[in-house]
Amino acid sequence: MAETDIYAALKKYFGFTRFKGLQEEVVKSILNRQNTFVIMPTGGGKSLCYQLPALMQEGTAIVVSPLIALMKNQVDALRSLSSEEGIAHVLNSSLNKTEVKQVKSDIVNGITKLLYVAPESLTKDEYVEFLQSVKISFVAIDEAHCISEWGHDFRPEYRNLRTIIQRIGNDIPIIGLTATATPKVQEDILKNLGMQDANTFKASFNRPNLYYEIRPKTKNVDSDIIRFVKQNEGKSGIIYCLSRKRVEELAQTLQVNGVKAVPYHAGLDGKTRVKHQDMFLMEDVDVVVATIAFGMGIDKPDVRFVIHNDIPKSIESYYQETGRAGRDGGEGHCLAFYSYKDVEKLEKFMSGKPVAEQEIGHALLQEIVGFAETSISRRKFILHYFGEEFDNATGEGGMMDDNMRHPKNKHEAQDDAKL
Ligand code: ADP
Ligand code: MG
Repeated sequence: MAETDIYAALKKYFGFTRFKGLQEEVVKSILNRQNTFVIMPTGGGKSLCYQLPALMQEGTAIVVSPLIALMKNQVDALRSLSSEEGIAHVLNSSLNKTEVKQVKSDIVNGITKLLYVAPESLTKDEYVEFLQSVKISFVAIDEAHCISEWGHDFRPEYRNLRTIIQRIGNDIPIIGLTATATPKVQEDILKNLGMQDANTFKASFNRPNLYYEIRPKTKNVDSDIIRFVKQNEGKSGIIYCLSRKRVEELAQTLQVNGVKAVPYHAGLDGKTRVKHQDMFLMEDVDVVVATIAFGMGIDKPDVRFVIHNDIPKSIESYYQETGRAGRDGGEGHCLAFYSYKDVEKLEKFMSGKPVAEQEIGHALLQEIVGFAETSISRRKFILHYFGEEFDNATGEGGMMDDNMRHPKNKHEAQDDAKL
């Protein structure tokens, strides 16, 4: 495939003149029909990596994705790029007979370039048999970390994908994509999909514009948060809390203190949630106090701070949540309050779970404790956790954390840890 063809297609289908990061290399690898593994942070542009080669090739690409909403979004976006309604389809249990017939005929007629399916739909014999009879260009597995118990979103159905793909056809290239950077999860993915030979493309997870700070959590945490928010008046921020109760309380405390804040958690009714989310996006309020229910798919580029009232359950979660700050490349202050008591609380939450899950949860917690208590560069710590070497002297954002700006001597560091 000539280079010019790829750029022409990029322009034709997406209207873009350049690739982002490693996209071009990924696209070439897929067009060469090689197994390919893509690790890029959220917002890195993973979808285009498989959409473009799917559009350029003969046959239909199967895209496995865990959420109906995500699939629908992508299908709508693809349809808006094309005059052909059937260019992309979702195949799932919500379709009636006539709709399924239409999908099948579009595939048979070579109109459908991307077929989105949930992993559980792929277990249906009827679908597998049909897919055996048509030309499949490749299978893309989005959010591939769902394969791994070490990931933050384990889905048992994802573990059968390899077997199903083999049933559908021999020699179908597999493309795995994830924003999870931990080496353990990556190993799991490659092993489970039987593609240790895959071409692997990993983007850097460094976010040079984010400033990382951990403070000991004391009984004065409310006033610490109020002071911080007041010093950043008019700026957008998210405050994450572990419990819904704490979300409600803290939102109220902030309101009483003159901060424009709203609560957000899964216990609120849908209408209220949408309203509060919109108020934040439209800047009717500055701050949203939320549980982790808030954030997935929310794209506000100018979030200036993310505060963690409680330490998250893993470095992965911390990275995802703090990652919502400074998407526009501008300032992003990430402030977390840490107390070992909260870690014990998190341990207790897990106690009802199966032993294997508890062990994994415990190991992940130990890592975040290490991160909270470290006196080395926080950026270095995070990136090391993600298997990336970072040099503070030369790396971008090397001085952007509390430990680098205000180095403590060892004694102080240890005293802090006991607070
Ligand atoms: P990810 O799945 O990695 O989180 P997405 O595929 O959702 O990322 O893409 C994130 C954003 O980047 C989208 O708005 C997309 O349109 C944009 N994008 C992707 N590739 C390019 C490109 N080559 N040029 C400009 N914008 C791009
Ligand atoms: Mg994506």
